[in-house]
Amino acid sequence: MHPRIASTGLAGEDTGAPRDTHGPGLTDTHCHLNDPAFEGRVAAVLARAREAGVGQVIVPGWDAASSRRALALAAEFPAILPAVGLHPWMVAAEADTRWVAVLAAESRAVAIGEIGLDGAVEAPLAWQLPVFRAQLALARERDLPVLLHCRAAWEPLLACLREVPGVRGVLHAFNGSVEVLRECLAMGLYVAFGGGVTRPNNRRAQQAAIAAPADRLLLETDAPSIGQDGVPPAAVEPRHVVPVLRRLAALRGEDAAALGARIVENVRALLNHRP
Ligand SMILES: [Zn+2]
Repeated sequence: MHPRIASTGLAGEDTGAPRDTHGPGLTDTHCHLNDPAFEGRVAAVLARAREAGVGQVIVPGWDAASSRRALALAAEFPAILPAVGLHPWMVAAEADTRWVAVLAAESRAVAIGEIGLDGAVEAPLAWQLPVFRAQLALARERDLPVLLHCRAAWEPLLACLREVPGVRGVLHAFNGSVEVLRECLAMGLYVAFGGGVTRPNNRRAQQAAIAAPADRLLLETDAPSIGQDGVPPAAVEPRHVVPVLRRLAALRGEDAAALGARIVENVRALLNHRP
């Protein structure tokens, strides 16, 4: 189907009564539909998501261009909730975050992200830290949640978060230990699980997914980066949060529909928070 035709149809469905009556359904809380891999496919991907019961997708930026792309997509597709931010992987190329503040002030961004720390990339943490801190401060100032990336940098990440009491947000693709999980929960953060928990050998993610209380759980795909059990990364789309939910429910010994309803409430609390 031609993307423009699909896009018109989807926008019509999205603004209709069913959405208001039944809510958006499940949310993919982390998916890069602004990645070139989704160029020309966004309308079809969102239509398939809606059919599967996934009515919202949070789309984080990783630099200025991808953040603007997330905002542009959100203007076209009501199902897309945009976030703006500078990813730690981009810090070597770009360290100025003033554009994040400008976009957050001028747009309908629902979060600051994707931001965080990564101890396994070339840019040293000394470069990443001021960029991360500036964006945390901005999120606190604007009372927006943060979408957090962390790899091999849990101690400095937790230290930065402690400097900003009241910061809200999500640890995306959570891969930390149960001890780290407890610290994050104590700060009021949510934890999002994706393809990792669907892979039988990913014990660490599964242990965290079992240990996390249901009122802090979120679902994500991180498409197009992360594969799922039986689904290669390039084929993963927002509708694939449904197998993640099933896997989470099975691991926790809970009913998938009940857990899904709880997670819908968690998304609402994350996005509609007002002090
Ligand atoms: Zn991401």
